[in-house]
Amino acid sequence: MSPKVKPIVNRGPHRKGFTTSILHCDRQKNIEHGSLHKPIHNSVAFGYERAEDLAAVFQGKQQGYAYGRQGNPTVAALEDKITLMENGVSTVCFATGMAAICATLLTLLRAGDHLIASSFLFGNTDSLFKTFRQFGVEVSFVDSTSTGTVASEIRSNTKVVFVETIANPRTQVADLEGIGKLCGEAGLLYIVDNTLTTPYLFQPASVGTHLVIHSLTKYIGGHGNVLGGSVTDTGLFDWASYPHIYDQYKKGDEQKWGLLQVRKKGLRDSGATLSSDSAHMLAVGAETLGLRMARACENAMAMAGYLGSHKSVSRVFYPGEDGHPEHDRASRLFGAYGTILSIELADGVDCFRFLNNLDLIVKSSNLGDNRTLAIPVAHTIFYEMGPERRASMGISDGMVRFSVGIEDEEDLIRDLEQAL
Ligand SMILES: *Cc1c(COP(=O)(O)O)cnc(C)c1O
Repeated sequence: MSPKVKPIVNRGPHRKGFTTSILHCDRQKNIEHGSLHKPIHNSVAFGYERAEDLAAVFQGKQQGYAYGRQGNPTVAALEDKITLMENGVSTVCFATGMAAICATLLTLLRAGDHLIASSFLFGNTDSLFKTFRQFGVEVSFVDSTSTGTVASEIRSNTKVVFVETIANPRTQVADLEGIGKLCGEAGLLYIVDNTLTTPYLFQPASVGTHLVIHSLTKYIGGHGNVLGGSVTDTGLFDWASYPHIYDQYKKGDEQKWGLLQVRKKGLRDSGATLSSDSAHMLAVGAETLGLRMARACENAMAMAGYLGSHKSVSRVFYPGEDGHPEHDRASRLFGAYGTILSIELADGVDCFRFLNNLDLIVKSSNLGDNRTLAIPVAHTIFYEMGPERRASMGISDGMVRFSVGIEDEEDLIRDLEQAL
């Protein structure tokens, strides 16, 4: 299946496609010297002729930059690009995806609040939320494939629901629509980590999401050479009703209060600022997101088909497969089925032997690289949590996860063939 590409809803009179919009996004504002890329501004501080202007920038009364931790023109251009991709109203970037998640929730939650999260979270996010428990935030982990389990956990102090689109490594697809409706009705802040689908396959704003998280490190950067993270406000949350916005951030457009607080406090308190060099590399990567995703999703579909019919493979986890429990949901919501594909090897097939036989596919963690990567899940990224927790999450010792890249399909299939 080739992805159905959803156009970006441009705010101008002419709607343009996804890739066109990203490519020409920077030029919507004046760029120094007509440069076609937003230049890399490697300056920590920004000087002003008049002290009054410096004061006005500090007080948020004038647009501008004061100190590099709180913002930089190169990073701002990337933020605008992500806002456009997600049909949002504003974006704040961070040094990594984890920094974006951590700073956003540190800024918006307080001790005594309750957070509902998916039980199939990315391992480091799972670890972070357990750390929040040490600081007095209650956290419930629920099966996010069903809205009912989320609804039954709602308490009087629940503030936030946090889910991912496609889970890693077993590829469960959250009930993104149902949970969005529930959060809208209950007045809860709905945060979706859209890393695995990217705005090319899915825009969480379409199901009522309030904040969209990305690890830019993965598909948006796309080349496995730079770290970054972001949070985008879709403009759908009523921040005036949220109890934890500090008075100093209740300024201007109510739609933007939450992210203003994340920018001011989140960047200041965490100090996890994205560098201008990284922002430039991520912006260059973003230009080809659509092309890379389309190709990698096709490769993943072909690999899932091949592996599913091989006698040495007992199970395939890929939302594009007819037998996947959330296949219909994924077909309805996403333009294609993503590039994460996991398998369980048949009894008696040694996963290390299989991996070591691979010639082309790289044995590596990370995902969303142009190169196809494979990792033995139980022995690496899920090792620390121990055998019991792994069993409860359905992670067997013979599970191998692939992050499928953009190589030529025949080469990938040939590599699997000879390794199996
Ligand atoms: C990688 C990842 C993160 C964390 O991003 P980093 O940039 O590595 O800090 C968060 N969520 C998901 C779904 C990820 O895959």
